[in-house]
Amino acid sequence: MQVWFTEDQTPNLRISVRVRQVLHQERSAYQEVMVLDTVEFGRMLVLDDVIQTSQKDEFAYHEMMAHVPLFAHPDPRRVLVIGGGDGGVLREVLRHPTVEEAHMAEIDPQVVEAARRFLPELNDFDNPRARVFFTDGIRHVEEHPEAYDVIIVDSTDPVGPAVALFGTEFHRAVFRALRPGGIFVQQSESPFFNRDLIRRVQASLRSVFPVAGLYWGVVPTYPGGFWTYSVATRGTDPRRPREGAWEAAGLRTRYYTPDVHRAAFALPPFVAELLEPA
Ligand code: SAM
Repeated sequence: MQVWFTEDQTPNLRISVRVRQVLHQERSAYQEVMVLDTVEFGRMLVLDDVIQTSQKDEFAYHEMMAHVPLFAHPDPRRVLVIGGGDGGVLREVLRHPTVEEAHMAEIDPQVVEAARRFLPELNDFDNPRARVFFTDGIRHVEEHPEAYDVIIVDSTDPVGPAVALFGTEFHRAVFRALRPGGIFVQQSESPFFNRDLIRRVQASLRSVFPVAGLYWGVVPTYPGGFWTYSVATRGTDPRRPREGAWEAAGLRTRYYTPDVHRAAFALPPFVAELLEPA
């Protein structure tokens, strides 16, 4: 008998993946945490029936979340990841030699436990430069003024505890938690299916930061496969990787390169119009 997992990606669109085995399933204080072994994507983390990441395509998302802000920033030393419980963004951040401390503020310890156990290649939680706080990311930024060079929000979709991570009050707190020149990145969903959300996030970032923009990448397990990342800075140009940094870091990546970085800011007109003031 074939077993399939189906996610309702929108009320009118579903994705189904064939499942070899359910490796883990438990209810945490915040959500249903599940790890599947799938035929097409390998192991997959699923929260409340929504696909979060998979062994096959995780690099495409995690590299673009981490390397665009870290290579654009002139000297990233202290970095915060909000959410990101699978550890993929934190792992990529820790690959940067300039980073002295990388913090992660994740609300749900059970996601981190499941990732450590079933997706160990995605994370580097025991790296001496890493520190994991089990707390609400909103509270964490409010309690850490001028503390970080880069803040990255790798959250679930805007439901439950993630709703406020897409709002202006949070963006103001992020601005205060960044040092001068600091960069903020947040996953901002699909330009096909979440157009109002992208418009709202962009307008909010423009109202708080002197520089705001959007870049994109491909992630096959997310709705539509065409994914956006909203970015805002305290002055730094996020579109330009810093001179010589890529060569100095010597990273072996599978998605990110400095050319991909620059190209990701080229927006098709149906996406560019989401950045125009209403
Ligand atoms: N890359 C995935 C995506 O785009 O769907 C997200 C991966 S990561 C597992 C998302 C994490 O955000 C979850 O583990 C969830 O517990 C966490 N999260 C949601 N709201 C949060 C909040 N307010 N503070 C901290 N973490 C939060």
